[in-house]
Parts: sequence; structure tokens; C-alpha cells
Amino acid sequence: MPSHAPPGTPLDVELLIEARWVLPMSEGLPTLDDHAVAIDAGRLLGPWPIEEARRRVRARRVLALGHHALLPGLVNAHNHAGMSLMRGFADDLPLMTWLNEHIWPAEAAHVNPRFVADGTRLAIAEMLRSGTTTFADMYLAPEAVAEVVAQAGIRTQLCTPLIDFPTPWAADFGTGLERTRALVERYRDHPLIELAFGPHAPYTVGDDSLRRLLEARERLDLPVQMHVHETADEVEQGLAKHGKRPLQRLFEAGLLGERFQAVHVTQVDDTDLAMLRETGTQVIHCPQSNLKLASGFCPVERLRRAGVNVALGTDGAASNNDLDMIDELRSAALLAKGVSGDAAALPAIEALAMATRDGAHALGLGDRIGQLRDGFEADLIAVDLQAVNTLPVHHPASAIVYAMNSRQVSHSWVAGRPRLVDGILCDSDVEALTRMAMEQQRAMAATSQSGEAQ
Ligand SMILES: [Zn+2]
Repeated sequence: MPSHAPPGTPLDVELLIEARWVLPMSEGLPTLDDHAVAIDAGRLLGPWPIEEARRRVRARRVLALGHHALLPGLVNAHNHAGMSLMRGFADDLPLMTWLNEHIWPAEAAHVNPRFVADGTRLAIAEMLRSGTTTFADMYLAPEAVAEVVAQAGIRTQLCTPLIDFPTPWAADFGTGLERTRALVERYRDHPLIELAFGPHAPYTVGDDSLRRLLEARERLDLPVQMHVHETADEVEQGLAKHGKRPLQRLFEAGLLGERFQAVHVTQVDDTDLAMLRETGTQVIHCPQSNLKLASGFCPVERLRRAGVNVALGTDGAASNNDLDMIDELRSAALLAKGVSGDAAALPAIEALAMATRDGAHALGLGDRIGQLRDGFEADLIAVDLQAVNTLPVHHPASAIVYAMNSRQVSHSWVAGRPRLVDGILCDSDVEALTRMAMEQQRAMAATSQSGEAQ
């Protein structure tokens, strides 16, 4: 490995980043003072103490960040990026009213590939600006999303939207599976795009579709991401219709396992907990969406103590209403304490782990990203902690989780490519995005009763 080259033979690298603190987020590794990492050919080298780094590498460029912390890029493990154009479109409503009377009719009226591409561009700008370097997406027109993602240079797990009723993307579940296969073929070797199945939820996917999904998963070997146990109502309806809890039904269908990502999971009885633990199923916690839709509380501390991996996501901007993972981190840390009645629950460094290492693991990317580790892909961010709201910095993780705002994210790199420099987005025309968002809002207001009612 390059970093093990003997001292005295410096290695040529593209960039050396020296920082006041480095949070590698590797299991058991502490926060490091005055350390550096190098980037070369999209990969990370280090971390090393700054003096040692200067001996080890000869960098074409050195970035000295004297009051910053470096950490892995944040992983937003659940999103519907195209819904950013529905931010604030229908607020303050319970989940099923929100979906049935507002979101699904608006999607039928407005959603087409251009709408999705525009919403995704807006979402990516917001995510990169606030420290996210990987997001999992589940939305209509994934072909359009893939093109935007490839151009924007952000890492993505693209979950294809599979549901039992016709959508603007697919006439039925089987067509969705076919289109998933075509996407896999097209993006198989793309360095930033991973494909996954995104069946919407147990209440919108019948038993026959679950069987077809299982067959397709065996053929294509993809992860599955699904909304599961979002509300108590969903569990009650599942019991009434199928005679079993939705998680039990998915377990019996053979779907649970390390490559199954269950989003929300606000309802967990002892049997559910045992199933999640024994199958190694991933849980994705979306605290702000759950709070806003009054869906319930994911028992994060209980799940983590049982050994279940829990990642963090914002959900779409229509139910959050932002895609800011720094904000989400703080909500997760505070909510874990409130829900468990234990102020020691989910300490700051563990909340950060959920948004980095554990998020990467949940998406099956844990051996490539989510830690600042030698040989890993160079997905990382710098945050500037020299601000009145974060000083003094006794503990960087505490400053980031409990005090920092996302405008303090100063730099980001995805696979070594700079995406944010000194707080300015690279390759993003914010003025054009602003004009587009305003035009789309006017178009929605002109044609939608819901839009007018807002
Ligand atoms: Zn969702």
C-alpha cells in the first residue's frame, strides 16, 4: 500500500489536506488532532500526523485547513430527490391524507422526466452544500435521475420505484422490474451509481409482486429498499389484511437480510426486533419526516443495542422539508434521548457514525466509503468550526452534531473530485436552479388545486 512506503521516499499525490482535526469514523479510532489525508486517483491515503504526512507524500497541491475538521462525506440513506419541487406543497397532514389527496394526485398531474431531473438537480445542490456525498434515491423516472447524478458527480444508490398501481414510470410491477434490469445493464460499471429495487411499501406491494421481486433479486443480485412499519396504522392494516405484521410477511417472503434496507421502522415489537437482528436487516431512520408526519418514533437506541445497523436519511423534501443531514443528525441525537428516556443514548460520535460508516454499510458500500481510511474512495468533507456558534471546540464531534449549522461545511470531494470549495458549489449554476424552481412552482400553482389551496 502506498502509505506504507518507507519514510524518505515520498509518494507523488494530487492533494494533501491538513486539518486541525480528522474524524476517521473507523470503529474504535478516536478523533485525531493535527492530521492530514492525501487524495490521489480518487483514493484516500492516510490519515497521518501532519509532520509525518509531509515526509510521506509530495503533493502537487496542499490545502491547509487550520480550524476545520475532516470527516467522511455524509450518507443520506433515504431520499426522493425529485420531490424537492414539492417542498412545502402540502404540509401539516397525516401520512395517508398527504399521500392520497395531495402527493399522488400532484405526481399524476406534474411528474415527468423533466420535472424529476429538475427536482433532482435542486436536491443535489442542497445535499452537496450541506455535506452529503452519497444519497439513496427512490423516485419516478430513475433514468432521468441517473443522468443528473452522473453529471453532478455525487454518489447514489438508485432504487427503482416499484408499486402495484400504474405510475408515470411503469404501468405495473412487472414493467418496473424489466426497467430495473435495463438500468442495471446500462449502469453496471458506473463508478458512482449503484442500483437497488425500491418496492414502495408492504401496503402497496401484494404477495404476487413480492414473489416476483424475490425472483428478480436472485437474477440481478441487487439490494432492496422499502418503507416498512412507517406508522402504527400500517401495521394494523397489515394484520387485518394478511393476518400478520408487515415485517413478518416480508420475512416469510424471504426478503429480509443484510441487503434489505427497511426505511422508518417506527413500530418494533420483540419479534420484529429478533427478526431484524437475526437476519441482519438494515434500518434507515428518518427522524424529521417521522416527526412531521406524526408517524411515530424509531427506537434507535434499542435497535443499536441489539446489534441492528441503523443508518440515517432525510426522506424527501416534501415531508421534511429539507435535505440537510447536519440538521437530521441533531434531530436523531436529540430524539434518541427523548424516546429512550436516557440522556446517554446516541452520543454525538455515534450519531455521526450513523450518518457516515453505518450509512455506507447499510447501502452495501461499507468497504469503499464512510470512513477516512487508507485505500477507501475519497468521499470526504471539511467543516469550519471557527464560528461563534461552535467556539470553543472542546470536542469536534459535539460541535458538529449539537452546534454547527450546515453552512459551515466548507469543502467536499466525491471520489476525489472537488464538489464544494470554500462553500461554493462546483459545476452548479445556482441562479439557473433558482429560476427553474420558481417556474416549476408557478406551473404547479396554476394547474393544481392543492397548489392553489396552499
Ligand atoms: Zn420515503
